[in-house]
Amino acid sequence: MAENRVELSVVSPVYNERETLPELVERLTAVLTGMNRSYEIILVNDGSTDGTREMLFAMAEADRRIRVVDLTRNFGQSPATYAGLSRSEGKYTVVIDADLQVLPEDLPLLVAKLDEGYDVAVGWRMNRQDPLFRKYASRMFNWYVARVTGMPLHDYGCNIKVMKREILDSMCRLQHRCRYLPADLAMVGGRVAEVKVGHSARKKGQSKYNFLKLVRAALDMLTGITDAPLRLIGFFGWTMALVGSLVGIRVIILRLTVGDILQMQSVVALFLFCSGVQLVATGLMCEYIGRIFVEVQRRPYFIIHEDPPKDNPGNQ
Ligand code: UDP
Ligand code: MG
Repeated sequence: MAENRVELSVVSPVYNERETLPELVERLTAVLTGMNRSYEIILVNDGSTDGTREMLFAMAEADRRIRVVDLTRNFGQSPATYAGLSRSEGKYTVVIDADLQVLPEDLPLLVAKLDEGYDVAVGWRMNRQDPLFRKYASRMFNWYVARVTGMPLHDYGCNIKVMKREILDSMCRLQHRCRYLPADLAMVGGRVAEVKVGHSARKKGQSKYNFLKLVRAALDMLTGITDAPLRLIGFFGWTMALVGSLVGIRVIILRLTVGDILQMQSVVALFLFCSGVQLVATGLMCEYIGRIFVEVQRRPYFIIHEDPPKDNPGNQ
């Protein structure tokens, strides 16, 4: 079976990308044909409502190397990506966004790294064409993820990545629900290469992430990959308690030596600060309790409506 595998699988999550799809498939096909390897393109329809689904099936009909994985509703970018990964047959599997912000033309650079012996190759966007606040937010985020995963990369959010079969198989065996692909890659291990890639502004369609969705996604990732924030809050709590005790001792000593003193303002400030810390801690705990709730429910991470055909045209 392993020898018959198609050489390259390209997985792309697609949500309302009708305007971009033809160019995506055209450019991917040109690049993959130029690479002279057998391939399949797995396009995951993540509950699109703009005619994308019909377009995908028409494309698969016209070219048997294109396979459609059709989810029953919109599950989100990460579940859609994992749905595609679960159906990938290739020796190497590529993950790429459908909106052409990362460039299919960079694919050979990443694949070359795997040929060199690396297990995973990930893109690092040069001249990123996104709003300024997203670039700064990503910088902080990258710093955090590098620390907690122990896999130091410059650009975790860059959605052009290639991995070898063994890595993908290990990734697909993971059971947890709070998924973040780079964190899963870090957990699975292997030699990772970072490759500088191009980036373009979105030319057609719109980003699927408004500000609130971005905050939600960031919070999911921050708390989904580690319990470090909980421990940090614990550390903060102990520090606050110590400072509170020292201030209390000082107040008692002043009371005994100097006499009556009014320190209303400092008490109010201290009270607000302490209750702020308490609230942050409670909020964080609720996040984790929410996650436990989600994990114990063991709902499927994605549901596929229509499986691609089993025979693999890329093998021919
Ligand atoms: N996407 C998806 N499901 C979603 C949101 C996004 O499959 O619920 C896909 C989308 O079609 C695109 C990729 O994920 O291929 C990245 O989405 P987008 O370009 O909107 O994100 P951004 O580049 O703004 O982070
Ligand atoms: Mg995009």
